[in-house]
Amino acid sequence: AAKEKGRDTLALYDQALDRAARERRDIEADLREVIARGQLGLHYQPVINLDTGKIAGYEALLRWYHPQRGIMTPSEFLYVAEETGMIVPIGEWVIRQALAETAEWDGSFRIAINLSPTQMRSPHLAEVVAQAIHAHGTDPERVEFEITEHVLLQENGVCTGNLEKLRELGTKIALDDFGIGYSSLSYLRRFPFDRIKIDRAFVDGIDSSADNQAIVASITRLAEALGMATTAEGIETRAQLDLLRKLGCEEAQGYLICEPVPGEHFETPDAVTAAMRGEDSCLLDYRK
Ligand code: C2E
Ligand code: MG
Ligand code: MG
Ligand code: MG
Repeated sequence: AAKEKGRDTLALYDQALDRAARERRDIEADLREVIARGQLGLHYQPVINLDTGKIAGYEALLRWYHPQRGIMTPSEFLYVAEETGMIVPIGEWVIRQALAETAEWDGSFRIAINLSPTQMRSPHLAEVVAQAIHAHGTDPERVEFEITEHVLLQENGVCTGNLEKLRELGTKIALDDFGIGYSSLSYLRRFPFDRIKIDRAFVDGIDSSADNQAIVASITRLAEALGMATTAEGIETRAQLDLLRKLGCEEAQGYLICEPVPGEHFETPDAVTAAMRGEDSCLLDYRK
């Protein structure tokens, strides 16, 4: 009986391992068909200027409308796409889709698109960007690519070449998730970024931690000295927003202002206001 019990325990353990492996395999198999099946979508999150309260840009964020699993966010599938290289065709879809969709919207604003390490090592990246910009008559200066320091972790010729080519096309480059990496400061010297996006980790505790305030204040001053703009990510409270403005941050993005939502919410000015949070939207104060 003891032997039997041991076997059962082992079997349970095997099952748990199997389940994780199967999950990974299922996601990978489904992901292969994701473009052909038209299951990808972009949500957009506005970024506001903290002086004027006006929308400075929109960040495109990838969503997978999975027939069984529902709306999936990148944390659930991006690692598989990245490991298998499927992020390259998916990322190309993102670039084309973001420029196509926003071309119809009113107003002058920036379009921010995230790029992963594998995408940055793709030799065709700049060509895809150039084609999409041309196809939609987009002003390249309005397009900003967001990369994290993971992209720069290994010295890679293709990646550096891509950064230079994107620059030559006239598009902008932002350093995303700034501050949480191992050596964020050294990356600022490696490439002349146009913008630093201050990670949510520092915004989170800003209203309760003097340390976080000091860090954010230093980042904004450093950015200014280096000629880079600053955007703070993940603003969820009024207090955070007020502090960021006081500390000299130029732009902000977060649930307090607006959650990422499908593009149709931003096609017209009226729809934009409706998509923003109603009564507690910080934008209302600016308009007074
Ligand atoms: P990220 O570029 O740093 O994007 C910000 C993330 O924070 C988004 O998560 C956004 O929904 C979330 N966020 C925004 N405001 C708030 C807030 O106030 N509070 C909290 N808790 N979260 C907030 P999301 O959409 O799940 O994307 C996660 C990450 O996936 C992105 O981080 C980016 O690194 C990556 N990603 C998203 N779309 C793409 C894409 O098209 N291509 C690539 N390569 N990566 C993408
Ligand atoms: Mg980003
Ligand atoms: Mg970020
Ligand atoms: Mg992130």
